[in-house]
Amino acid sequence: YTAKRNNSGSARYDTSLESASQQNLSLMAELKQAIEHNELQLYYQPKVDLHSNTISEVEALIRWIHPKRGVIPPDQFIPFAESTGFIAAITEWVIARALEQRAVWQTQGFPLSISVNISARDLLNAKLPGNFAQLMETHNASTDWLSLEITESAIMTDPEAAMQVLNQLRENGLAMSIDDFGTGYSSLAYLKKLPVTELKIDKSFITEMENNPDDAIIVRSTIDLGHNMGLRVIAEGVENQATWDALVAMGCDSIQGYFVSRPLAAEKLMTWLQHSQWKFKEKPQSYRLTG
Ligand code: C2E
Ligand code: MG
Ligand code: MG
Ligand code: MG
Repeated sequence: YTAKRNNSGSARYDTSLESASQQNLSLMAELKQAIEHNELQLYYQPKVDLHSNTISEVEALIRWIHPKRGVIPPDQFIPFAESTGFIAAITEWVIARALEQRAVWQTQGFPLSISVNISARDLLNAKLPGNFAQLMETHNASTDWLSLEITESAIMTDPEAAMQVLNQLRENGLAMSIDDFGTGYSSLAYLKKLPVTELKIDKSFITEMENNPDDAIIVRSTIDLGHNMGLRVIAEGVENQATWDALVAMGCDSIQGYFVSRPLAAEKLMTWLQHSQWKFKEKPQSYRLTG
């Protein structure tokens, strides 16, 4: 920290002069305590199935409720967690938390399935599939309760290593989606080999597709590509009715975005779902992997 002498001669802490790297250092130290201090929280954003207008699944999105800095979004601490290896602990916490939440929702009559985001570093951890299996067993959980979202760039960091971990996860029965699809330079050769069940088109293509014909073409082509490869296709970042209508016309399978709901805390999501125009439907059998 930068200590400045003020007129009375005492050291004064000046946040405006705190350099970015110093901020990062202190953030990292605090992050290590965040789990113990119960400062991490999962928010949940619904996904609507466009064929049935029902909701079966929500995505878990992490927030750090910092006692002094307020709500810190994941983009501001997940990268640190990744570069220090602390992400493994966070990912385990996220999975355990999601499974607990699913059990609570089940007792409330809304057994939603939950997708969790997995980072590049997780994919290089050969222990991940085993840890996963153990967590599922501890929580007496079915693999239908959880699915994984993995960014395209995470997979392409080390495609061969990622492929091994992904194959094992899939053998354990987990469904998997390629997140932020279209932004990560994945080759079609890998796409063909990856054991995924869904493509999630990045919101950068979705938010502008009404005004930008190039984006609309990319979205349409990605939906067709996914379907031709036997995958479900979901669009993220849907913010208005016009985008919704365009995606329905293009045959997109499901959507997610502020137009339906922002990510919400678990109890808020329940209240929202009970009053929402969209009906809850338990994840149907057809979503499940067959082998
Ligand atoms: P993502 O998985 O691609 O999640 C989508 C992001 O877009 C979320 O931001 C979400 O709140 C936001 N979003 C949803 N609908 C809309 C919309 O209609 N318009 C706009 N403009 N934005 C929308 P968030 O929650 O800040 O998360 C950012 C990223 O952080 C996520 O991107 C994901 O990559 C990462 N992340 C979040 N939670 C976790 C986690 O538990 N573990 C890991 N490893 N990464 C996480
Ligand atoms: Mg995601
Ligand atoms: Mg995404
Ligand atoms: Mg993203």
